[in-house]
Amino acid sequence: MISQDGIIDVAEFCPSPNFDERPNNAIIDLIVLHAISLPAGFYNTQLIKDLFLNCLDPGKDEFLESIKNLKVSSHFLITRKGALIQFVPTHKRAWHAGISNHKGKENCNDFSIGIELEGCDDEEFEKPQYQSLSRLINFLSIDLKINKQNIVGHADIAPGRKTDPGPLFDWTLLQSML
Ligand SMILES: [Zn+2]
Repeated sequence: MISQDGIIDVAEFCPSPNFDERPNNAIIDLIVLHAISLPAGFYNTQLIKDLFLNCLDPGKDEFLESIKNLKVSSHFLITRKGALIQFVPTHKRAWHAGISNHKGKENCNDFSIGIELEGCDDEEFEKPQYQSLSRLINFLSIDLKINKQNIVGHADIAPGRKTDPGPLFDWTLLQSML
């Protein structure tokens, strides 16, 4: 269930400073799925949290160094074990999509919910992730009236620039669980 202040009660809430207001009259009607792993190809949820909370310590990792000053967030992250973490209230605008276009409408952050799955392009996602994701989508469809058909990947709204959630994300399985 989503509370008045846009927080889901089954999620661990880690408030990110990286959000702002949606435009006036914005209707949230899109769910954007992403994949992230930090460093790339490794699973370490703490580093993802640190990135979204602007406290990423890159150590000696060049890739982490290159992203440490990004101001990014998503509404939700689903860990490899299926745990749900929320960073931004649903009615606020999280910064996940970047330059994007869905059916002619630009800036998908304005009207979407961003969900990160811990993963990468060349590894299948875990069953508990699909379970947690389908449960979250069902909450969003009930509480925010988002049509369950309006789910896209980051690659769909930023083609050529993004590839996530990647070719191994099982869209058929997800649909069968909704
Ligand atoms: Zn993405």
